[in-house]
Amino acid sequence: MAKKMKLKKQAKIGIFIIIILIIGCIFGVKLYKEYLYKQTYEYKLLEISYSLEESNILIDNLNDKELNKILELEYNNNIFKLVTEKYFIFNNLEKYLDYISKADTKNLTNIVAMVNVNRDRDYYEEPEKASIDNHELMLVNKYYYLGEDYEPEDITAISPTYAYEGNKINEEVLAAFKNLAEEAKISGYTILINSSYRDYNSQKEVWESRKALYGTRQADAFAARAGFSEHQTGYAIDVADFYDINDKFGETESFLWMKNNCYNYGFILRYPEDKEEITGYSYEPWHYRYVGIEVAKEIKNLNITFDEYYAYYIDK
Ligand SMILES: [Zn+2]
Repeated sequence: MAKKMKLKKQAKIGIFIIIILIIGCIFGVKLYKEYLYKQTYEYKLLEISYSLEESNILIDNLNDKELNKILELEYNNNIFKLVTEKYFIFNNLEKYLDYISKADTKNLTNIVAMVNVNRDRDYYEEPEKASIDNHELMLVNKYYYLGEDYEPEDITAISPTYAYEGNKINEEVLAAFKNLAEEAKISGYTILINSSYRDYNSQKEVWESRKALYGTRQADAFAARAGFSEHQTGYAIDVADFYDINDKFGETESFLWMKNNCYNYGFILRYPEDKEEITGYSYEPWHYRYVGIEVAKEIKNLNITFDEYYAYYIDK
């Protein structure tokens, strides 16, 4: 009898221990799960006040390195909106946030576009040397310049069939322009190159003589400073209609033809209407830039300027 009682007691203790172990396991698993959750970006973002929805947007759009950077910053309700902008560049994040506080516009698409093309700085402020590795896609504007000694290769004189006297351009650009001009002629338009490659010193003369007469502001409004003109690349052209003698190319039918067809030959309208804030130039219906057929078509389809394309698709 005593032996049986002893066995029963042992069984009870055994069951008790098993129950304790089970509870312990459940509790342990729960603690471990909690520990794991605390390591997630979701938890960490919630901790610095992002909502679940906002933190999911950040997680979906950013990589580990970028998310860790966000965790170092204070909560900002513009960040999760910015990351979904098509042309958002993570390295510009702090510049966007800074520019939002200064800019007149609160439109984030505009903010991203402006900062991407350096418009959070004044023109000519802290300019950088243009990257010349890829000639066809080099960016020269009011923030990227070519040195005094930069002379493009393969510059060739243009025959009077295609240009006014004294014009020179890169060989590849000339070949593309010939195709364009021949095709335009078939449609009844005579398009001629009016101005093309200009070296550093001739640009310097243009700007300085204007400055001497009217001052810096007027000179800047009229011409690019030496080194900052796209014409020094050898990849930019100004065109004219055969009958256009009053610089009204934008009002000619030739212009309409150019606007609708130039990208098929690798050219883009470089300073479009209503894009002055982005390009830094007033509308110039006569100025075209050669970037190659593929990129020209892409820029046309995306409906962005070369400055924006360069920032997002080349420089990033
Ligand atoms: Zn021009």
